[in-house]
Amino acid sequence: MNTPLIIVGAGHAGGRAALTLREEGYSGRLILIGDEPHLPYERPPLSKGLLQGSTDLAGYSLCDSDRLTELGIEHIAGNPVTQLQPEQHRLQLADGQWLPYAGLLLATGGRARRLPQEQANVLYLRTHDEALALRSALKPGARLVVVGGGFIGLEVAATARGLGCEVTVLEAGPRLAGRVLPPAISQALLDLHRQQGVEVRLNVALESIQADAVLLMDGQRVPCDLVVVGIGMQPNIELATAAGLEVGQGIRVDAHLRTSAPDIYAAGDVCEFRLDGVYQRQETWRNAEAQGRHAALNLLGRELAYDALPGFWSDQYDWGLQTVGVMTSTVASRELPGGGLLLFYLDTALRLQGACGWAPGNSVAKDIKLCERLISAGIPLNTASLADPELSLKHLLRG
Ligand SMILES: Cc1cc2nc3c(=O)[nH]c(=O)nc-3n(C[C@H](O)[C@H](O)[C@H](O)COP(=O)(O)OP(=O)(O)OC[C@H]3O[C@@H](n4cnc5c(N)ncnc54)[C@H](O)[C@@H]3O)c2cc1C
Repeated sequence: MNTPLIIVGAGHAGGRAALTLREEGYSGRLILIGDEPHLPYERPPLSKGLLQGSTDLAGYSLCDSDRLTELGIEHIAGNPVTQLQPEQHRLQLADGQWLPYAGLLLATGGRARRLPQEQANVLYLRTHDEALALRSALKPGARLVVVGGGFIGLEVAATARGLGCEVTVLEAGPRLAGRVLPPAISQALLDLHRQQGVEVRLNVALESIQADAVLLMDGQRVPCDLVVVGIGMQPNIELATAAGLEVGQGIRVDAHLRTSAPDIYAAGDVCEFRLDGVYQRQETWRNAEAQGRHAALNLLGRELAYDALPGFWSDQYDWGLQTVGVMTSTVASRELPGGGLLLFYLDTALRLQGACGWAPGNSVAKDIKLCERLISAGIPLNTASLADPELSLKHLLRG
């Protein structure tokens, strides 16, 4: 039997890489190793459709087990990799067996960042199993406190309101999702959640969590039945660190997504790569999808530089948020039908670098697609035209 290609982490990036290797004609031995007991799956529905009860694991798995068998992908589930020896080209599983590899992809994602204190009424949301536990606790009338006003916390808040829960969101910062969103969109999110009956408290610090309440540093007590903590995630870097790979906030890779060991690649949430010269990780569906695919191509020796545009989305109530590109520089904005907003980020030569839109339903998707084309076109734009809701983005694309 030939020495296999191995993927560690059977989540979104890992699953996508395995499928891509077969699509691209790799016919050798291929092993996908996961610590969860499930088939590879996408996580966005965990805070939306799964909690609402409108979808289940089969609805967001990347493929079913028949397809894996048909493709000859050996899926080892519930058996984490515990040790990696890059010089010997081998790794060890929790059950003790050693496997040699010809090429390796690390797609180990991350886990929910936890509070120091563990308690029965405190839940987290990263995995399918955690989402099931949360779903069974979100009963109508339940008093839920969400710690953290980032995307996962806000999506849980929105879904829980839809299920009839009483919801309070506690955010340490001065605005919602402030680390990634511009102030105008943070404000729109705040207004929407308040309109929907969520009590949002900003600039608050947690003192402790008790069985029936959350205590704040300023002495306030927020009574509750259940607490969901959404304070970010911790990348699963331990395996790579112990193996001596270069690690920063994630597993460091070069332009080809190759780690400091020549035949080991990294992709997805755990991967720290350079974008505009700055090392960063991205915790998004789009990044997991694109890097999983890209790392697979490079495992096959393509030597392609990774230059995909970043972007993410979030759905809350019946509103959708979408971004594309890099959101750092000069802003122009236009109003969208139904009270939405589209913000444009331009470089000094007035070329579009990024866009962020917020609108009812999925209506912003088409604008973001056009913005993606405008970014790729690299043409200088007129800020007054961008701001004019009467002027279609398609028109600007035609120059
Ligand atoms: C609740 C939720 C909602 C989200 N919603 C959105 C959204 O609306 N839009 C958006 O753009 N993004 C969203 N995301 C982010 C997106 O889902 C992630 O960026 C994506 O799942 C990352 O994929 P990944 O493969 O890198 O990591 P993961 O999907 O986490 O997969 C990594 C896998 O590796 C496993 N693993 C770790 N260590 C080992 C080991 N030693 N051995 C074996 N296996 C191991 C992990 O347990 C996991 O199964 C959401 C995420 C969550 C949690």
